[in-house]
Amino acid sequence: MSGFAKVQSSCPDCGAFVKWNTRAPGSLHCSNCNKDFGDAKMRETLLSSEILTKCAACGSDEMYRRKSFPKPVGIGIVIVAGAATVALAQSRAVPPWAIYAPLFAAALVDAILYKTTPDAAGCYRCLSVFFGVAPDESLNAYDLERAEEIRLGRKVGSQPSNSRKGGSSSRTPPHS
Ligand SMILES: [Zn+2]
Ligand SMILES: [Zn+2]
Repeated sequence: MSGFAKVQSSCPDCGAFVKWNTRAPGSLHCSNCNKDFGDAKMRETLLSSEILTKCAACGSDEMYRRKSFPKPVGIGIVIVAGAATVALAQSRAVPPWAIYAPLFAAALVDAILYKTTPDAAGCYRCLSVFFGVAPDESLNAYDLERAEEIRLGRKVGSQPSNSRKGGSSSRTPPHS
């Protein structure tokens, strides 16, 4: 029983990044354009399901799995370790073998955090990410090509056409 899910989504109207969780009252609310999206069903879906097979926001099954481990944390740990290594390297009191110890420790901490954080499910179509609900086993890891395909697919039909501007050049000179 999960019972709790965090959602990151982008507003379908203005594209603003919105965070929401199943404990918050109401549906997903965009504070930028002041609109509600998602609906009560989404909360129900998230609260009742232990595994997510379809996007709870838009119903699409074009989903991927990703680690819910926040990348900035991992990078931050490495940066701190790097700074510590530089500091150790400048100190003559530290034996050479110990200089890189912080980097090894950071790699270890990252690996443990990465392993222990549960997966999250993301939606290619509406770009929502769901934390706290296990993604379906069959979902693949994020695929940039697939994401691009779907992103372009969404825009089919709304592409601007330039054919209207070429009116004057299409005039053919009269034959004599
Ligand atoms: Zn909005
Ligand atoms: Zn979706």
